[in-house]
Amino acid sequence: MKRILVTGGAGFLGSHLCERLLDEGNEVICVDNFFTGRKVNIHHLLGNKNFEFLRHDVTFPIFVEVDQIYNLACPASPVHYQFDPVQTTKTSVIGAINMLGLAKRLKIRILQASTSEVYGDPEIHPQPESYKGSVSTIGIRACYDEGKRCAETLFFDYHRQHKVDIKVMRIFNTYGPHMHPNDGRVVSNFIVQALKGEDITIFGDGMQTRSFCYVDDLIEGMYRLMNSRDGFTGPVNIGNPGEFTMLELAQKVLELTASKSKLKFLPLPQDDPMQRKPVIDLAKKELAWEPKVQLEEGLKKTIAYFEKEV
Ligand code: NAD
Ligand code: UDP
Repeated sequence: MKRILVTGGAGFLGSHLCERLLDEGNEVICVDNFFTGRKVNIHHLLGNKNFEFLRHDVTFPIFVEVDQIYNLACPASPVHYQFDPVQTTKTSVIGAINMLGLAKRLKIRILQASTSEVYGDPEIHPQPESYKGSVSTIGIRACYDEGKRCAETLFFDYHRQHKVDIKVMRIFNTYGPHMHPNDGRVVSNFIVQALKGEDITIFGDGMQTRSFCYVDDLIEGMYRLMNSRDGFTGPVNIGNPGEFTMLELAQKVLELTASKSKLKFLPLPQDDPMQRKPVIDLAKKELAWEPKVQLEEGLKKTIAYFEKEV
């Protein structure tokens, strides 16, 4: 049994991770400032004697005694991370410094939830971990992309300079239950719109692609990475290589919800990546991991969740 700190633990991915770690028999300290996270995501965990919640902003240091850290605190939806971009960069960069400082003092392992956004609007397709990325330093996504890139740099410098035991995971678009109905990301937007009979908002011509991973697969990959062999730091891509255009996604959601919603085309946001698809050979080799849930099955489970939410 370990005592494990999860930052961002009341968010979409964090709440699933807390659940998984408790199921494995660990003690979990969940830290969150509720910027995008919700009490309802962790409500069912509050009665568990091995679960403790601390309302705290990771841009301030925290003093706890733990055996492992999963650092997930950071808004992930473009709508939310662009709402207060300065705070977004602070969360990624100062949050990483604070958590790495804690890992250094305690001599413990720490995992960083990085992102496919470090590849920016990629010029090579699909994206292996060796691709260095094409990111604007001044665009509206930079607060997130550059914050996450700097966090990766900090992880590797703490590893080289202070021998901190790090694991860096590059997460590709993930979806599932516990997403906020107003999250703003494409899967939750389309499902909520379809269920309410509202127009489905397609940005641009809808020909841009994404690869969508179901949350259970993602959490399995995250858990395996944290418990992977000594010396394996990553970065490692975790995502589902199935690639879909936003039009295809909209069609699938309409079909599965039997909705009569119409498509509504809106301008493409600045710097919106045209394509994204992970190469997952490294995850297969090092973690014996690959996603099992295909899009249709994952969408059905997510639709069932939102039917109760909206
Ligand atoms: P989310 O917005 O649901 O969760 C983020 C959590 O962090 C929220 O609970 C929020 O309140 C908390 N938080 C934000 N700023 C904080 C701060 N300063 N101090 C303490 N808590 C803070 O998003 P998510 O999808 O669960 O993403 C979790 C992590 O995974 C993020 O780091 C994100 O960048 C990364 N990630 C997610 C995806 C994805 O598709 N879901 C893709 C790539 C990377
Ligand atoms: N998108 C869309 N309609 C929406 C929300 C998003 O067409 O209501 C598009 C968006 O422009 C992007 C893709 O869906 O091309 C994925 O967007 P999301 O915000 O989910 O994630 P990210 O762009 O960070 O991958």
